[in-house]
Amino acid sequence: MSIFTKIIKGEIPSYKVAENDQFYAFLDINPNAKGHTLVVPKREVNKLFDLDEKTYTELMSFSRKIAIAIEKVIPCDRVGMSVIGLEVPHVHVHLIPLKAMEDIQFIKKVKLQPEEFEAVAKAISKNL
Ligand code: AMP
Repeated sequence: MSIFTKIIKGEIPSYKVAENDQFYAFLDINPNAKGHTLVVPKREVNKLFDLDEKTYTELMSFSRKIAIAIEKVIPCDRVGMSVIGLEVPHVHVHLIPLKAMEDIQFIKKVKLQPEEFEAVAKAISKNL
C-alpha cells in the first residue's frame, strides 16, 4: 500500500484541499512553494500514462479546478504542473505556484508551520 493510499484512508494525516469519489488533493509536505498541492487518484496506479484514458482525463480536469483555486489564493505568476513519481509510486500531479523557473525544479524548498499549511489548505478549499 502506498503512503498516499494510507493518506486517502486517513491512516496518515494530511492537509486536505479537496476530495471526490475518485481523487484526493492535499498539500505537499515538503513544498517547492506555498500552496504546492498534490492530486492523487484514489485507485493506486504507479505511473501516469498507465491510467486508463477516462481516469487520466478526469484527473486533469479535477487538477485544473484545484489549480484555478490555488491561483486565486496564492500570489504567483501562474500555477505549474509536473508529474514525476520517482519517490512515491502512486500517480500524483504536482500543482505548484510559480514565480520563477526554479519553483518547478524541486531544488528550492520552503518551510511552513502547521498553522500555515492549515490556512493554505482551507483557503484553497474555500475557493473551489
Ligand atoms: P515524486 O514521487 O518524486 O513526485 O515526489 C513525491 C512527493 O510527495 C514529494 O514532493 C514529497 O514531498 C511528497 N510527499 C511525500 N510524503 C508525503 C506526505 N506524507 N504528505 C504530503 N506529501 C508527501
